[in-house]
Amino acid sequence: MILTNGEIVTLDPARPRVAALAIRQGRIAALGPSQEVEALRTPETRVVDLGGKVVLPSLKDHHLHVNAVGFAVMNRASQQALRLELTDAASEQEVADRVRRRAARLPPGTWIFGAAWNQIRFGTQALPTHHALTAAAPEHPVFLVRVDAHSAWVNAAALRVAGITRTTPEPYGGQIRRLPGGEPSGILIERAVEAVMEKYAQPSDAELTESFRAGAAAIAAQGITDVYDAAFLPFPGIVAMNLPLERFFDALCRLDAAEPLPVRVNLMVPAALAGAVLRGQVSREISPRLRVTHIKLFCDGAFGSRGAALSRPYDDDPAQRGCYRMTRAEMDDWIARALDAGFGVATHAIGDEAVTRTLDAYEAALAARPDINPRRLRIEHISDAAPRDLERAARLGVLVCIQPGFVWPEADGLIMEDWRLGPANSMNTYAFATLERLGAHLAGSSDDYLAPQHPLWNFYAAITRKNPEGIPRHGWHPQEKLSRASALRLFTEFHLPGGDVRPAALAPGAPADLVVLSANPLTAEESSILKTRVHATLLEGRVTHTDGTI
Ligand SMILES: [Zn+2]
Repeated sequence: MILTNGEIVTLDPARPRVAALAIRQGRIAALGPSQEVEALRTPETRVVDLGGKVVLPSLKDHHLHVNAVGFAVMNRASQQALRLELTDAASEQEVADRVRRRAARLPPGTWIFGAAWNQIRFGTQALPTHHALTAAAPEHPVFLVRVDAHSAWVNAAALRVAGITRTTPEPYGGQIRRLPGGEPSGILIERAVEAVMEKYAQPSDAELTESFRAGAAAIAAQGITDVYDAAFLPFPGIVAMNLPLERFFDALCRLDAAEPLPVRVNLMVPAALAGAVLRGQVSREISPRLRVTHIKLFCDGAFGSRGAALSRPYDDDPAQRGCYRMTRAEMDDWIARALDAGFGVATHAIGDEAVTRTLDAYEAALAARPDINPRRLRIEHISDAAPRDLERAARLGVLVCIQPGFVWPEADGLIMEDWRLGPANSMNTYAFATLERLGAHLAGSSDDYLAPQHPLWNFYAAITRKNPEGIPRHGWHPQEKLSRASALRLFTEFHLPGGDVRPAALAPGAPADLVVLSANPLTAEESSILKTRVHATLLEGRVTHTDGTI
């Protein structure tokens, strides 16, 4: 295939722009002026006139959730038959009304699921209580996952089914939020949700594979060819602890064999499911495009539900300091087992104290194994961190996986973390430029688990630190903006599981992993970046998504 008459952005400083590119057997065969490349055509060659469209190295996403993206896409297509989508719900009452309407159509006892509610959209930082849901659906257990996928809002019927009462002790790795008298409030943080999750049917094998297929297609449509699936979040969108892994992987293998997946997926298996993988009972090479590469650990929770572990009380709720999901000893044990079995480790750490604990564990693991590549150890999010820990992440050489899109300012120019930490304490939050200056190894990701955002949303957020409306005018903590070149590198280089980097640059011999865009993100006007369209995605020369351009 020859792509001609375009703006091909090679990211190769020796030859940054060419007009044409030839692909042979999945690899780039030639780059150069249109005339020169077209001279290579044979009778079998397909020539695509790009008409000035822009070609870049394909995008990579180092942390998202394929099944969950797929469920969101399927749910949208089925008019929310699977669960209520609550992203746009503007009040507690609106959520309750939607639950009431659904309950009216379903026999008593039927579960009602929902996802992506956010109390900030209700105009408050305070988490809701079960009362409105209990009144709306007294006979149906209701389980609504917060937008952070780390906590749930349930009604009295769900608490009853799960056996959670005023005398239930705090579960391991989670919190049951309570009303002043000690009654459960209806908010379950982190692993406290598991008592409820055990009570409803988990998705079927068919639902799991169908959501994986739908998720992979939606991801390819973003211009992406390579991802890390950072733990399975099956229906309704919270970390699974009881997935039948062997059956799931068999089904995925058949899926990839029946029709090659449009993205290469590197799977991270959550620790609770990792036993069989570490013992070698489940193969780590699942299929040509699927493999298990990491064990995923969760050190703490998330800011929105105040589950991120802080070294001090939350500024907007001094009774809370967050929630650990595992002990340091457990982390040490999983890290050792994973590294010794040849896997990498990726640890979710959002609060500053969780970042410290994770780096402590990594530092000890690396001291005991001086020969391994430190980038086999990844820290996910590193949202709030003490300056000494930002330095330490760089010094240890671990891979730091960041989500620029987590910086999402509200109309007042502040982000949710300003509330949780206090605006005076948020300057070390999402400190991307500081990390870069310190020499940290950075990988970019969206952490998508709902229907994908705009394909360049995370790129835009990294360079502007503004919301899509351009607020605040100078960006949130603008000193932490990244350059366009750095931000693009985050999403075009690929950090391989063993610690090496597959460079982004397009050069003869490199795999033809490409995205065709309507504009060049390196030069487009800032306000038009989020209007860029993905025309096509190619994985090793195979068209995995097209709007008809190719
Ligand atoms: Zn995630």
